Amino acid sequence: MDIKITIEKIGLDIVTEELNPFKIAQMQLETAVKILGIEPEVHDLMKEPMRILQVRIPVKMDDGMTRTFTGFRVQHNDARGPCKGGIRFHPDETIDTVKALASWMTWKCSVVGIPYGGGKGGVICNPKELSESELERLSRGYIRAVAQIVGPLKDIPAPDVYTTPQIMAWMMDEYSKMCQYNVPGLITGKPIAIGGSLGRGSATAQGAVYCIREAAKVLKIDLTKSTAAIQGYGNAGNHAARLLNEMGVKIIAVSDSRGGIYNADGFDPAKVLEFKSKNGSVINYPGAMSISNQDLLELECDILLPGALENQITGANAGNVKAKIVAELANGPVTPDADAIFMKKGIYDIPDFLCNAGGVTVSYFEWVQNQTGLYWTEEEVFRRLDEIMTNSFHAVHNTAEEKKIYTRSAAYVLAVSRVVEAMRLRGWF
Ligand code: GLU
Repeated sequence: MDIKITIEKIGLDIVTEELNPFKIAQMQLETAVKILGIEPEVHDLMKEPMRILQVRIPVKMDDGMTRTFTGFRVQHNDARGPCKGGIRFHPDETIDTVKALASWMTWKCSVVGIPYGGGKGGVICNPKELSESELERLSRGYIRAVAQIVGPLKDIPAPDVYTTPQIMAWMMDEYSKMCQYNVPGLITGKPIAIGGSLGRGSATAQGAVYCIREAAKVLKIDLTKSTAAIQGYGNAGNHAARLLNEMGVKIIAVSDSRGGIYNADGFDPAKVLEFKSKNGSVINYPGAMSISNQDLLELECDILLPGALENQITGANAGNVKAKIVAELANGPVTPDADAIFMKKGIYDIPDFLCNAGGVTVSYFEWVQNQTGLYWTEEEVFRRLDEIMTNSFHAVHNTAEEKKIYTRSAAYVLAVSRVVEAMRLRGWF
């Protein structure tokens, strides 16, 4: 489905901006292909996923009726190792969002140098409208339906938007029953008691915070005098607020799907989380001014973390972004038109597949622990995560400086060249 909207660009004419995430992913790849001078035949393979599976999942609902859900698993490229990537449960899921997310996983695993290709799954559903037992039956049904193409050495799923460690546990259990032995390495992001890794819960945020720390160093920004605004107060957003706050950053605004809150004096992230857990949203938090999600993105602050969904910062609003650093906690929150504006304005962007790679990196650690049966301390997990994120951040930053290109293009250049090298070594070209 082509999603195009007509938007008004600040100070420019009315333009039509492409907002189909897969088309955006293809445009981003093309930029790197041009910089690297990659041949058309190699580009052609990377343009589209290598495998797409669509499934229909009949689920017995609590009222006795059966409802059939549509799900997908997309494997973009496995030249560097088995595919890896989360599963989203979302009412607006489309095959194109899953294809985009699968390709971003290929580049994400590559840019941080972990031995995986990219995959992604999705089910069109609204988990907020399902009971616990309906959600369990849907989760078990999904993994059964895609079982033929997943597995610890083929494709390893994980959590993503609206999927949880409990959902991973049901999927691991269902797959293990099919195999008739325990297969913890099937899936990552599991609860600790059944083979999850210490540190996985906050890993995405932790990885982003390591990147922000390094960005602040190269930009000579004092984090203890900085302010941050965070869009999305889910798993990544709330941990990012806590970790940044621990480093001395003042969290002046946060939001969720229902709206945002602002306080120039800063929030206590733990109290906001407690309020959200009780009330289902951050809105109406005492002593805060209410703002919209759009207002949040345009606030006067040093660090902006879009941590919700795709296409949040577009050609229509990028011109109003005032942050010095944009740290992309979500996948695909900044469009190519917005990139062009950021470049012009000198906003330092930490691209999504670098910024949020902490999650998949600790997923990799979880899988290594499952495959070896030797479990690590939390200290060990974060020490290794810090090393990988810090090195990857500087590799991208240095490439951007050397080649005088935008940070996202630099991340693509590194990631794509490694995938191309793997494909050549394997004799695909
Ligand atoms: N869903 C997360 C992501 O987009 C984590 C994937 C994983 O752990 O495999 O990076």
